[in-house]
Amino acid sequence: MPQTARQIRITRHGTPDVLELVDSTLPEPGAGEVLLRHTAIGVNFIDTYHRSGLYPLALPAGLGQEAAGEVMAVGQGVAEFQPGDRVAYAGGAPGAYASHRIVPAARLVAVPAEIPDEVAAATLLRGMTAQYLLKRTFKVEPGMTVLIHAAAGGVGQIACQWARALGATVIGTVGSQAKAQLAAPWCDHVLDYSQPGWVEQVRAITEGRGVPVVYDGVGADTFAGSLDSLMPRGMMVSFGNASGAVPPFSPGVLASKGSLFLTRPTLGHYTATREELVDTAADYFTVVTRGEVIANIGQRYALADAAQAHRDLEARRTTGSTLLQP
Ligand code: NDP
Repeated sequence: MPQTARQIRITRHGTPDVLELVDSTLPEPGAGEVLLRHTAIGVNFIDTYHRSGLYPLALPAGLGQEAAGEVMAVGQGVAEFQPGDRVAYAGGAPGAYASHRIVPAARLVAVPAEIPDEVAAATLLRGMTAQYLLKRTFKVEPGMTVLIHAAAGGVGQIACQWARALGATVIGTVGSQAKAQLAAPWCDHVLDYSQPGWVEQVRAITEGRGVPVVYDGVGADTFAGSLDSLMPRGMMVSFGNASGAVPPFSPGVLASKGSLFLTRPTLGHYTATREELVDTAADYFTVVTRGEVIANIGQRYALADAAQAHRDLEARRTTGSTLLQP
């Protein structure tokens, strides 16, 4: 029988008001596809870029890149999954803000029994991001001091805890005193980057040397300070734009600030093969299962209230990861 789905759709880019809740009828899953009933849906900052048009979509479009749920039916040629399996996905085409969805089986991972659906749905994308940033974009080693921005946020919380589990000393930044208190348990030093002087504080903590790596998902507001926080030949990992996109700049800046390296990585390029995807997810689920990373869901909304989730995320009112309940 055809499956009806409630889904969030946009027909134009703009403010959160462009989100609409609509009903649609899903076809049978095609070859290599799976029909899912979502049990929980993750909300990520990238969803706001898709909505606003910072990252334009072909319209009309769905929103959302990650969810967990139950396999209801599989298409031809799908051998790895069967009806009843608990699965999750993160990345790929937007459209996860929905009660049901057809997704390529190649993007799914099995969810271990120890991991609740909500944790998989709200944190798999951020957890896999932390995995590749800390272990593959720049390998964090014991004894290093690393700088991680937005330490009370979704990626930030996970990355700080994981970096510490890898043996690093973590300097985390936050935008308010309330968030400083929240981030304190998983940072060795918490700095408020809404106040002047945070770069000098990084220098003081590192006895003038600077850090070997900065993980910067804030973008425009922190970019220059991040470069100034690095030691010579340090690595600037610019992985997001929460405060806006980084303006164009000359590569000569990297020379003058100490022969720095700069990369602008995305999760898709680090989970491009089935093996990379499965290994990255498994590594994340392992640190959560071991208790090395506590995946904190800071707020939950009904699917119909997805616009409010966007407003809160963009207004810096959220902490940890954010979930929609279908
Ligand atoms: P967060 O939960 O971290 O929310 C963003 C945080 O950024 C805010 O809570 C806020 O923390 C901080 N911030 C600083 N300035 C602003 C501003 N002007 N407006 C809004 N927020 C601001 O979001 P996510 O965990 O979903 O994502 C974090 C970043 O990582 C995003 O930039 C996202 O795009 C990026 N990302 C990149 C990926 C990749 O592969 N490249 C994959 C996943 C995420 P505070 O109040 O403390 O300043």
